[in-house]
Amino acid sequence: MKVEQVLDNLKRRFPNEPEYHQAVHEVLESIEEVYNAHPEFEKQNLIERLCIPDRILSFRVSWIDDKGNVQTNMGYRVQHNNAIGPYKGGLRFHASVYPGILKFLAFEQTFKNALTTLPMGGGKGGSDFSSKGKSDREIMRFCQAFMLELNNIIGPDTDVPAGDIGVGGREIGYMFGMYKKLRNEVTGVLTGKGLEFGGSLIRPEATGYGNIYFLMNMLKRKGINDLKGQVVAISGSGNVATYTAEKVIELGGKVVTLSDSNGYIYDADGIDSEKLAYVFELKNIYRGRLKEYADKYNCKYVEGGRPWTEKCTIALPSATQNELNGEDAEALIANGCIAVSEGANMPSTPEAIAVFLKNKIFYGPGKAANAGGVSVSGLEMTQNSMRLSWTKVEVDERLKKIMSDIHESCVKYGTEADGFVNYVKGANIAGFMKVAKAMMAQGVI
Ligand code: NDP
Repeated sequence: MKVEQVLDNLKRRFPNEPEYHQAVHEVLESIEEVYNAHPEFEKQNLIERLCIPDRILSFRVSWIDDKGNVQTNMGYRVQHNNAIGPYKGGLRFHASVYPGILKFLAFEQTFKNALTTLPMGGGKGGSDFSSKGKSDREIMRFCQAFMLELNNIIGPDTDVPAGDIGVGGREIGYMFGMYKKLRNEVTGVLTGKGLEFGGSLIRPEATGYGNIYFLMNMLKRKGINDLKGQVVAISGSGNVATYTAEKVIELGGKVVTLSDSNGYIYDADGIDSEKLAYVFELKNIYRGRLKEYADKYNCKYVEGGRPWTEKCTIALPSATQNELNGEDAEALIANGCIAVSEGANMPSTPEAIAVFLKNKIFYGPGKAANAGGVSVSGLEMTQNSMRLSWTKVEVDERLKKIMSDIHESCVKYGTEADGFVNYVKGANIAGFMKVAKAMMAQGVI
């Protein structure tokens, strides 16, 4: 396999999908050597079969808004690879969604899910629908219309979607209700469900908590066992960012930033538990903007900016892809940042990653660091199949163990000659080897 050749081929067949090309490029660069050491992989053209999704469904979603107008959005499901289990991965509702974004996410998800040690393949889906400014009833009607099509290709043993940007407990509930009505069956076809109808404790917290568990595993290598004295910059203020902040505060760290798509807040005194409770309320109940936090607590607010130039020792990008570029990475290093761990998927650009690796700081790529969310989704599937519910402590312990195992896999495959752990390489090789072996065993299909 020659990386450039495979990439050129993909770009020719699937032009104008830069995020997909970027995600594939990163993985191929890491696995090139290992792949080429296994000529049997190339004989089966494994790489092309692994890069191209098994199946992509796209469909029209028509729904009626509160004024009686008929609205139309696009819906998608990318079923990337099911070599090690049913397709599994979230649904994203955001105006920027198009097949290229979902293909990058589904590709990443395949390796991430392999790392979790649970039997899950990779997929991703969503719509260019935005919930911003929509009423609760409009969101319900949209979710129902979306499920009218999606239900045809998902199922508890086939493909099990979950949430992502713009899809939280409310949207999952509406989609689950519609699936149940269409199929007349109550199964674990979606994860992230409400606790009353099959959801798992700790699922909302899992991505954020899991990222901090991964971070602590990295920091332990330097003898750091808590976050006391650490100044933490977080981006985003949604599901992942808020639960990340909660865990940081619990471990004694000081959270100084959060952001949304309008700008970021910098609170030099730290966002404590009380202030964080206000953020939860602001985002989940009032669906407000972070600017309101700055007005309430009289702190700095930067319109349209990103938080990475603020002084911090740990950075946790938790909003969206490519939100941290090379210059941001240089600014973090100059300010004394010792660790970056990604809650979001592919938040750092290739230039930023190069800066982190050159400076040999702890850098946990999203594929490994944010795998806690899908891991607890996997545990939710298990509980649904067994028709029982584990306690909070049981799920949290399992989550900690999974994050620690993922960290170990990264160390195993990513340790370089001087002892530095390249977590990007480690995560990519560990995930790839598992999927590759499963695909080889199952023949050309
Ligand atoms: P939410 O919708 O709950 O929150 C997203 C946050 O990011 C919001 O604060 C949003 O601001 C901000 N944001 C979204 N798009 C942009 C953008 N283009 N520019 C700036 N800010 C933006 O999503 P999640 O917290 O669930 O997801 C965040 C990230 O974590 C995503 O990359 C997702 O793929 C990843 N992830 C999520 C998992 C999960 O379990 N939910 C699991 C693993 C990864 P605003 O409100 O203004 O839109």
